[in-house]
Amino acid sequence: MPELNLLWLQSGGCGGCTLSLLNAEQPALMDRLADASIRLLWHPSLSEASGNEALEILRACAEGRQRLDILCLEGSVMTGPSGTGRFHMLAGTGRPMMAWVEELAAKAAHVLAVGTCAAYGGITSAGITGPSVGATGLQFHGEHPGGLLPASFRAGAGLPVVNVAGCPTHPGWVLDTLLALSMRRLTEDDLDALHRPRFYADHLVHHGCPRNEFYEFKASAEKASDLGCMMENMGCKGTQAHADCNTRLWNGSGSCLRGGYACISCTEPRFEEPGHPFTETPKVAGIPIGLPSDMPKAWFVALAALSKSATPKRVRENATSDHVVVTPAVKKTGLK
Ligand code: SF4
Ligand code: SF4
Repeated sequence: MPELNLLWLQSGGCGGCTLSLLNAEQPALMDRLADASIRLLWHPSLSEASGNEALEILRACAEGRQRLDILCLEGSVMTGPSGTGRFHMLAGTGRPMMAWVEELAAKAAHVLAVGTCAAYGGITSAGITGPSVGATGLQFHGEHPGGLLPASFRAGAGLPVVNVAGCPTHPGWVLDTLLALSMRRLTEDDLDALHRPRFYADHLVHHGCPRNEFYEFKASAEKASDLGCMMENMGCKGTQAHADCNTRLWNGSGSCLRGGYACISCTEPRFEEPGHPFTETPKVAGIPIGLPSDMPKAWFVALAALSKSATPKRVRENATSDHVVVTPAVKKTGLK
């Protein structure tokens, strides 16, 4: 495979997606890049080059002296104040990062938004800082097409901005996307409506959750550390959030749910402002507002009533405990 040059920039974010990427394992980050024939031109945290050396790499890409195959942006684009982008100037250049990103995106064969900030605006666009900072995504603002780049933007190889959303994004999502690009195996059909790679966005976080038995019987956690399903009371959006977190584990063994925390749907646009505390489930007449994404409300209500009436004692009591208090029955006869 011919080598692909990758340039990684950071703007309005916390750097968490890079930290997450460093947790890549089996194989590790640099081995995976080498396997995919990807050469890191520059990364602000991982490269030795800084100051003028780093700027020269950016200039060479912008001026077409250096072929730019993949441009990754981590963090939102800061367009404020008043659309000037001057809230984030690229040191030593006298130009806003926004202008650099725009210029480099026009030169790149592929453009990746790494993390929900770069994809949709994310945490940086939340709350009172949003309007003044002017944080937005590369090609989406929230769920609406058109961030820094117009909805019609296509990178040199023909794809729109690929949104590897997540806060932070899973290292496997980034590296599998890069691998697919290097193998020329990522097409527009492989992206969902929000331009996330479908290999992880066609799944729900709920799939593979170890709390699924509690979910089936609507045996719910009532407080932090309870073992039960966290949808009814604790704000879990795993039945609506597009990601494979419970089947593609984090650091080989973890997920938010396995760590005892509700899924707050960090791969979705506008997750940062749910309009309620993250660990509380908003309800009307006792029924959660956010029901499973593809289930009619009447079905859910009927199913919940039926399953609650059939909840085994073991599941019901363990749901509100922080350890197993009722163990599965042992039957005398052989299993059939
Ligand atoms: S805790 Fe969330 S992801 Fe897990 S079973 Fe319940 S709703 Fe699904
Ligand atoms: S479980 Fe939900 S909140 Fe946690 S990383 Fe996955 S999508 Fe994000």
